[in-house]
Amino acid sequence: MSLDKTDRPAAISELAQIVRNKKIPNALLFTGNPGAGRHRAALWLAKALNCAAGGPEPCNRCRSCTKITGHLHPDMIRVGPADSKKAITISQIRQISAVTATRPHEAAARMVLISSAHQMNLQAQNALLKALEEPPGNTFFILAARDTAGLLPTILSRCRHLHFFPLTGRALAAHLAEHWAVDERSARIAAGTAGTDLDLALTLIGQAPPGTPGTPEDPDIPAGRGDQAGTRTPDPPAVDWPATRTWLIGQLCTLIAPSAPRQTETALRLSMFLSQAPDFLNPGLAVMRAFFRDLWVFGHAPEKIVNLDFFDFFQDINTRANDRPFLTWMADLHETERRLLSNSSARMALDRFFLKLIHR
Ligand SMILES: [Zn+2]
Repeated sequence: MSLDKTDRPAAISELAQIVRNKKIPNALLFTGNPGAGRHRAALWLAKALNCAAGGPEPCNRCRSCTKITGHLHPDMIRVGPADSKKAITISQIRQISAVTATRPHEAAARMVLISSAHQMNLQAQNALLKALEEPPGNTFFILAARDTAGLLPTILSRCRHLHFFPLTGRALAAHLAEHWAVDERSARIAAGTAGTDLDLALTLIGQAPPGTPGTPEDPDIPAGRGDQAGTRTPDPPAVDWPATRTWLIGQLCTLIAPSAPRQTETALRLSMFLSQAPDFLNPGLAVMRAFFRDLWVFGHAPEKIVNLDFFDFFQDINTRANDRPFLTWMADLHETERRLLSNSSARMALDRFFLKLIHR
């Protein structure tokens, strides 16, 4: 995993300095939007501080580095909300304190990574405060949060704060082409689909971001799926996103082709595919967002579409479609995403979207 200056200049150079000086703060707060690279940076720091090669960069080959990359290191402890809408509870923080009261198994620097830290309830934050006031030996805490809202001032005052700024679309495409060995067109497609979300862009080019393979950085790592010894659950099968993106867009083309017969079965199968796991849903929605946007953009500025490999289809449908409900479809997808965020059943929201799409 490369993590160099083009990733997150300010935050990374600060982390590199921490490694060089071997002055590890008891607690770090990483803020930034989903996909901004906070978890990647946490893993980088954990590896750099424990690497058998002595650093300052992690070697990514030694026992410690490979265990951390594979989420198999017993001293890399992660906690987060049980699901993206729930709070992190005091019992979760007490479990961490029980672990950190003992010596690390093998790490020189043990890491406790709290994902979606802003979702700690008040009791949990007060319990954490105790741990931060009397820091356990050889242990550092990383709190990852979107911003500082929701965190007690007493917690904030004990953390060194690093903010992760997102890359612009163009910088993201350049980064993918330069550091992840993808051709320029694939880099542009992935960056255009992912917006400013580095982890999603990496998923789309077939590089699993940190956390569960194939899963974007947020929603954060659920509790119990961490690296604590003995609690590891098997990861779901990773999705080959470069191929899946092509397949998914091909299916969407079939559904909306002007002369196509109504394909209820395909519509419902797509809904089922996307709703089976967040690993499928989040990148799938990003692909769909870019696709429906392209349909509309093509009529105005064909050179600005994201899915350049489907140029001919966009050209064809823009010439042949009598009515062009492209904006309606974009609005329907937006509404579907809103429903998904507000706790609706993914399957029902997607069924509704796809059935509306074919009954036009
Ligand atoms: Zn190493």
